[in-house]
Amino acid sequence: MNESLHTFAQSIASVTDAEALINALQTERQTSIRINSKKLGQQELPSVPWCKNGYYLEDRPLFTLDPLFHSGAYYVQEASSMFIEQVIAPLATRPLRVLDLCAAPGGKTTLALSLLPEGSLLIANEVIKSRAQILSENLIKWGNMDCIVTNNDPKDFDFLRGFFDIIIVDAPCSGEGMFRKDSNAINEWSPENVDLCSKRQLRILYDIWPCLAPNGTLLYSTCTFNEKENEDVVARFINENDATCEQIPLKDEWNITERKKDGAYSYRFFPHLTKGEGFSLSVIRKNEGSEYSLPKKLSQPKSFSILSSKNTVPFKSLIKKEDVVFFEDKQNKVWAFAEDHQKILCEIAAHCSLIHAGTPVAEVFGNKINPLPGLAFSYNYADNSFPSVTVDLETAIHYFKKEPLVLDNAPKGWIQLKYNNSSIGFVKNIGNRANNPYPAEWTIKMNVDYSRLPQMKWNIH
Ligand code: SAM
Repeated sequence: MNESLHTFAQSIASVTDAEALINALQTERQTSIRINSKKLGQQELPSVPWCKNGYYLEDRPLFTLDPLFHSGAYYVQEASSMFIEQVIAPLATRPLRVLDLCAAPGGKTTLALSLLPEGSLLIANEVIKSRAQILSENLIKWGNMDCIVTNNDPKDFDFLRGFFDIIIVDAPCSGEGMFRKDSNAINEWSPENVDLCSKRQLRILYDIWPCLAPNGTLLYSTCTFNEKENEDVVARFINENDATCEQIPLKDEWNITERKKDGAYSYRFFPHLTKGEGFSLSVIRKNEGSEYSLPKKLSQPKSFSILSSKNTVPFKSLIKKEDVVFFEDKQNKVWAFAEDHQKILCEIAAHCSLIHAGTPVAEVFGNKINPLPGLAFSYNYADNSFPSVTVDLETAIHYFKKEPLVLDNAPKGWIQLKYNNSSIGFVKNIGNRANNPYPAEWTIKMNVDYSRLPQMKWNIH
């Protein structure tokens, strides 16, 4: 056993059977996915028992070569993380305001979005800019309009005191849960880093706590096994604040470990006991505080303008949702957003670094309107706004590689592309070829051998 692994084993001996855990970490990890039920039907695959749309796969396919992976029809997510559904689903009986504070690449955000009722709003934040861009791509592809992406430090949200019903803090951690996925992770692990992480986790909780509404729920999770980053952080936090740690009902057959230390409950996923990777979740309820109210003088956004209703006519027909507002950014791109959340969007845009909001609709060039590629993935795209063509696997991969396509017998002009009943994008057919506006930063970068494309079988709607 190498030295780091030995020190790690000693550090978790009081938490679980260290030898059994280390043996499990030497085995292959399980692949799991969660389907987007707005885009795919239920699958005949073994289910993740704590998540309605979660499934285990027997092996790990090359997802990059599956068009439905790119179109947000499912998300590849580690099964243990899907457990947050057990906390969010029972709360989702009314529209909720949710902040996913450490959100990239978007696993928990897309799950939360699938659980939230109509009229909810989710802010997905990521402090690292490049990761915020990936988060934004994944959320545009997932297709839900009621979502904003920001790139901020936790303390920047201070202007939203008492606003959120739910805050998810999936905290940056020492990454012990990654030992099975990434063999290098063990060499980067050290007890000093565990101490450093636990201090940062406590600071994040303190920074964001004022933003939780009274009686609101904070989900605190990590993918580590030690106590310092889990129960110790939560226990210290609830003992220093007017907060309570809550229990989550479990089924015996899930083999999830409930632990309690100094008033902090935690729900632990150990790979030698539970079918998933390392994960720990605690639920903290806020007992005090006052609710957010909008300032009397609302902020005016600088990075975009709201379109007056007479200017929205060409965009309205592209969106099937009622009660939306359209705004145009400095790059002449038009986005749709729920009217109910318009005021808070303006406040957020004034105080935060806004990366994305709502549904991308169109780009305006003089009096020409080109559909934005992200519109094709939206639940709210008014199907049939453009003629559609169903393409085969090879053509779909050419599309995601941003290559020009040849579409025989298709009409000229903008065409919606579909693959396997899923909307994947738009191209502009000019006759002998179709121009491809797929965003360069989203493209498939790998070399593809088109003679050996794997065909994944999905139950579609
Ligand atoms: N929730 C994500 C998901 O389910 O896909 C995974 C989040 S990952 C465990 C933790 C995230 O916290 C990383 O994206 C990281 O960039 C971010 N992070 C790092 N330092 C942070 C800090 N000081 N405050 C807030 N977030 C931070």
